[in-house]
Amino acid sequence: MLSKILKTPNSSLVQFLQAHDEKFRKLRQTIHANPELSRQEFETADLIESLLKSWKIKTERLSTTGVIGILQKGDFQNGKRIGLRADTDALPIEEKGNLPYRSKNEGVMHACGHDGHTTMLLAAAKYLAEEADFDGTIIFIFQPDEEDQAGARRMVEDGLFEKFPVDAVYGIHNFPGASAGKILIKKGPQMAGTCEVHIDVFSKGGHAAHPYQTVDSVLVAAEIVVGLQSIISRNISGIDSAVLTIGAIHGGHANNVIPNKVSLLGTLRYFDLKVRDLIKTRIETLAKGICLAHGATCEVRLIDGYIPTINHDKETDIAIEALSSLMQPDFITQDKVASMGAEDFGFMLHECPGAYFYIGNDKDEIFTGLHTDQYDFNDNNILIGGAAWVTLALHFLGK
Ligand SMILES: [Zn+2]
Ligand SMILES: [Zn+2]
Repeated sequence: MLSKILKTPNSSLVQFLQAHDEKFRKLRQTIHANPELSRQEFETADLIESLLKSWKIKTERLSTTGVIGILQKGDFQNGKRIGLRADTDALPIEEKGNLPYRSKNEGVMHACGHDGHTTMLLAAAKYLAEEADFDGTIIFIFQPDEEDQAGARRMVEDGLFEKFPVDAVYGIHNFPGASAGKILIKKGPQMAGTCEVHIDVFSKGGHAAHPYQTVDSVLVAAEIVVGLQSIISRNISGIDSAVLTIGAIHGGHANNVIPNKVSLLGTLRYFDLKVRDLIKTRIETLAKGICLAHGATCEVRLIDGYIPTINHDKETDIAIEALSSLMQPDFITQDKVASMGAEDFGFMLHECPGAYFYIGNDKDEIFTGLHTDQYDFNDNNILIGGAAWVTLALHFLGK
């Protein structure tokens, strides 16, 4: 089975990970059973920190529930430095299904596989601390709050790369929809940036039977919704990608009253900051222009969220080279298309070169997507993902 996936199923690295596999599966299942919401990862952080310390890896806290592991070996002063990141938080979802390690915390669930990300990186940390030989520095970044308020941004703002400088930083996410263990990696955009779109239309409401005495905010809002759809199709180059969706319209309460306010709420997804800025300008101009034409007014608020996650060419090539030495050719691909979903690792890649890649998570041919109430990380990936982390780190550091 492993020889189908890995070129070196009998290496000392794989043997080490195999010897500890049962323990790490239990650890992953323990984390799965005890999920914590964003910025509340206190027990998870304690667990990570105590394990790192037990392997003689120095630790520090950053951004309250973030844990940094610092491992230096050999002539580290003249060696390179690499950052490896795993996210640690869970989601506000009530877990369904009958897993023996089902969530014990009501309404909280590891439905994005961050329990697995944490465990893969811990497995790699144990090997790198106890067995590996290198000259350099490895910074293990256990990042909180990926799902809610961009813990990656907060760590960067709290001095991640000043306190723990690295030459490159890497992140892995599990990926339902690809065979377990398959690595999906490529240059360029991986995940989109986000921007919340709020448009409040104000007008003179009145009796629905006498619309000529009013300015109809429902009609104006409807024109804005339709008009907004011309931005992506008419103002953005066909080569660029962006999505603009209005997901909520609120206004009015009766069949015979024209309301004096309608609110629109939507999301913008993009891969290029210049494209984002152009779309934001167009949203504002178009909404205000339509309101002006009808005698209404509006307030437009465009709130930037996550920035795009874009891989750096050189650091992606280094990872492809490293991982190609580990994976059988069928188990590494550069074909994955970018997703319009979002991920806060973009904030780290904005400050530091690096790459973000995926590991297939499919299990028993049953497809459940991320953020669904029966999602479960595939424990076979602990060994493969751990081996991928170790291989990448040692290759990067020149071993
Ligand atoms: Zn998620
Ligand atoms: Zn996730």
